[in-house]
Order: sequence, then structure tokens, then C-alpha cells
Amino acid sequence: MVPDSTTDRLLPALVEIVGSDNVLRPAPAQYLTDETGRGLRGDASAVVLPGTADQAAAVVARCYDAGAAITPRGGGSGVAGGAVPAGGVVVACDRLDRIRNFDPLLWRIHAEAGVTTARLHRTARESGLMFPPDPGAAEQSQIGGNLATNAGGPHAFRYGVTRRWVTGVEAVIAPGRLITVGGATRKDTAGYDLAGLLVGSEGTLGLITAAWLRLVPAPEAVHLVAACYPTSADACAAIERVLGSGAEASALELLDEPAARLGGGGFPGGPLAGCLLLAEADGSTVEAAARRDALLDALATGALSVAQPDDPAAVWRWRDGVSSRLSAVRGGKLSEDIAVPLDRLSEALAEVPRIGERHGLTGLSFGHAGDGNLHATFLLDPADDGERAAADAARDELFALAIELGGTISGEHGLGLVKSGRLQDQWGPAALDAHAAIKRALDPRGLFNPGKKLPTR
Ligand SMILES: Cc1cc2nc3c(=O)[nH]c(=O)nc-3n(C[C@H](O)[C@H](O)[C@H](O)COP(=O)(O)OP(=O)(O)OC[C@H]3O[C@@H](n4cnc5c(N)ncnc54)[C@H](O)[C@@H]3O)c2cc1C
Repeated sequence: MVPDSTTDRLLPALVEIVGSDNVLRPAPAQYLTDETGRGLRGDASAVVLPGTADQAAAVVARCYDAGAAITPRGGGSGVAGGAVPAGGVVVACDRLDRIRNFDPLLWRIHAEAGVTTARLHRTARESGLMFPPDPGAAEQSQIGGNLATNAGGPHAFRYGVTRRWVTGVEAVIAPGRLITVGGATRKDTAGYDLAGLLVGSEGTLGLITAAWLRLVPAPEAVHLVAACYPTSADACAAIERVLGSGAEASALELLDEPAARLGGGGFPGGPLAGCLLLAEADGSTVEAAARRDALLDALATGALSVAQPDDPAAVWRWRDGVSSRLSAVRGGKLSEDIAVPLDRLSEALAEVPRIGERHGLTGLSFGHAGDGNLHATFLLDPADDGERAAADAARDELFALAIELGGTISGEHGLGLVKSGRLQDQWGPAALDAHAAIKRALDPRGLFNPGKKLPTR
């Protein structure tokens, strides 16, 4: 990375490309952090806001030529520090916010990177369609950020994560070239899957400027079933029964006992006891009712209670608030999005509180249990250095556990800054070499989001 004085000399050229109103200097504080918490704050000489893909390409070209780091930024809702800059220039996509084309009858949309997730959802809904990936913080997160993290969410259980919905990507790659891979076509096996490679690359291979996305008809009806179980092992047995029975759930979310007790206040479906499993059924009116009935059957065994909240949307709003309610218990938390194979989920859930106990912390889990994806969490007082250090040590054990169970240290948030370099705990040397070779091929000077996902060379 080059010294800031060099980046500073770049600024007149950047102003020439995007106009002085769109080069923010000094970099406003909100562009130097994201939703990770933990006091993470980066630094950058400036924030640049291109208004078109061509401007974005010109900005990257000038930065690349000068050797300045480029941090692509979406809505800053990431929780792995991926958008926290390490010097250089933040390229924010806020102004790349046009829907270039929407063909409801063909179930597809072509949107720029800065369109928010919520706006895309609303646009699709107004025409009876749905864009299924539904990470929380939808009013804040952007389509570019969703692609860059390959975001999931509750409905990934039935509908899959973001990658499944992308048919094409427009991006700026080194040293400032605008490429298009894929497009409106629903199938394309002509080249290597570069679009797939950019999805999930966390801004380390290029700046995504637009995407072609598939949509599906929105379900006519949605039903929720809320089942409480004495233990998380009972809830895991219920999840396995749902899958084994062929009952098609669109989402299977879980709060273990401490998460339900400490973060479950105000549940719209009535009082909670033990561990909560939320199962959603969707489809046409007839299909959704049949799926709900199948879920009710599969969930009944061993349950303390089984209820059908009558306002699923209210339950999902409540679910969105679980994370912040848990943060409020002690003022802070350290949460990591491990994922494990479903048949090991029960072991993971049982072990998180034990890890917490070993470090003097409350450990709990909530998350997208149908995908084996947990937000394993340690509650802490952020002002207490000892507790922060204990949580860091607990986190090391948590990652070791995920790997030992055949899982991953990140099911949906990415490695970002906070897990940078930890891929080596999970992959063997040959796979890591291939990973590094891709980075070198697409970003030979290592200027795209340095220090994220991969350690800085
Ligand atoms: C309350 C809450 C709930 C959440 N729930 C979920 C959930 O259920 N599932 C889930 O998957 N995530 C969830 N998240 C995490 C986050 O919302 C998602 O990862 C989201 O997709 C990030 O989008 P963003 O635009 O905010 O990206 P940012 O935070 O701005 O950036 C994230 C990463 O993407 C890169 N990036 C951003 N835009 C671009 C671009 N245009 N080109 C290249 N790289 C880019 C950045 O460099 C960074 O590495 C949640 C976050 C919060 C705060």
C-alpha cells in the first residue's frame, strides 16, 4: 500500500472523474466502519462516489495506477469488518442506484450495485414477484454487498443463497477494466464461472457495479409454526424429522434456550419456553396449507408447545430484532456465523454454552438452523477488557469446533477483516494455493480490499 501523501495526490484526478461533491474528504466516520461493532474503525484518504459504471472504472484505474488501496463499499451492514478500509480510497456504491431494467413477465431484473435489498424486494413484490435472499438490515444493505458476501438469510433454506439468483455480473477489475460476465440469459456455461467467483469475493477481486438477477413468483400464502422444545437436541431432532418427512419448509430458524430466554421478549406468538423453532410454509393457498399441516405433524413429537402465530410478518420483524436484544443484555456481544452439517448441529449447539462457561461468559446460539448456520454468540460488557479477551479466546474454540464438526467458520457473513487469514485453518495447502493464485491473477498488485478475507502479503 502507498503512503497517504500519494493517495492525496490522486484526489484531483478523482474529482475530475466524479465531481468535487462526490469526493468526500476527510472520509466521513460512517464510511470507516460497519455493523461489526468491536470498536472496528479503519482509515481512508477519501470516499469516492461514482455515479456510473464508467466513472467507477475510471476511479479504479487511477487508484490502481497510483498503487492506492480500493475498498468497495455497499451499505456498511456487514458484520465481519469487510468494508472497513485500511488506507487508500473507499469506493462507495450509494449513487449506483438505478434499476436498469425490470421484466416482471420474464422474472428478471437488472439492478445497479447500490440498490438497497429492501428496494429490490419492494420492486419485485409490486409485480407479484420475489427476490428470495433476505439478509437482515435490508433497508441498509445493497445488492453489491449481498453479492460480495453471497448473503443468505432465513429463506436461504428453501431458496438458496444469493449466488443462486445471479445470472450476470458487471464489475470493474484490475487495472480498471469494466467487464460483463453472464447477463439476462438464465443459463451460460461458455466460460469459467467468473460471475460465481465475484459473488462471495468480499471486494477482494473487483468492484461490482451491477447484477442481473432472477426472480420468482411471490408465494400466495405464508404460514408460520412456532414450536418450543425442552432442549436444543429435541429441536434438532425435529429439524431432522421435517427433512426426513419431506415436509417442505421455506425457513427453519432456531433460538436455543438462553437465546430465547434473553432475546425472545415480545414474541408475537405468545410466551416462549425452552428452545424455539420457527418453521415457515409457503406456496399457493392449497400448497402452503398442506405444507403447514405436514410441518405441524413433523414438529409435534417432543414439543412443549406448537402454535401458529397469525401474523408471520410480525414474527419476522421480531426475529430481525433478536440480535440487538441480545446485545442489550450486557451491552455487547461477539457473534460468529459458523455453519455445520445438519447431523452435527446438535453437538454444536450443546458446545457453545460450554465454551462460554469455560471463559466465564454466557454462550448461546440463534440462526438459520435448517442450513446448519448458527450465530454463535458470547455476551459481554464491551468496557471490560477481560471479557473482550475471554470472548476472543472463546471464538478460537468456536472456530475449532466448527471445523472439527466438518463445518465452516463462516456460513454467510464472509471472513472480512475479523476472520482474515483463517481460511488456512479450514482448507489444505493445495486449495489455499489455488485461492491465492486467483487473487494474484485478478488483482496482481493486491489493491482490492487489502487485508480482507486473505492476510495482506
Ligand atoms: C441486523 C443484521 C442482520 C443481518 N442478517 C444477515 C443474514 O440473515 N444473512 C446474511 O447473509 N447477512 C446478514 N447480515 C450481514 C449483512 O447485512 C450482509 O452481509 C449484507 O449482504 C452486506 O451488504 P452491504 O451492502 O451492507 O455490504 P457492506 O457491509 O458495505 O460490505 C460487505 C463486503 O462486501 C464488499 N462489497 C460491498 N459492496 C461491494 C461492491 N459493490 N463490489 C464489491 N464488493 C463489495 C465490501 O468490500 C465488504 O467486503 C446482517 C447484518 C445485520 C446488521
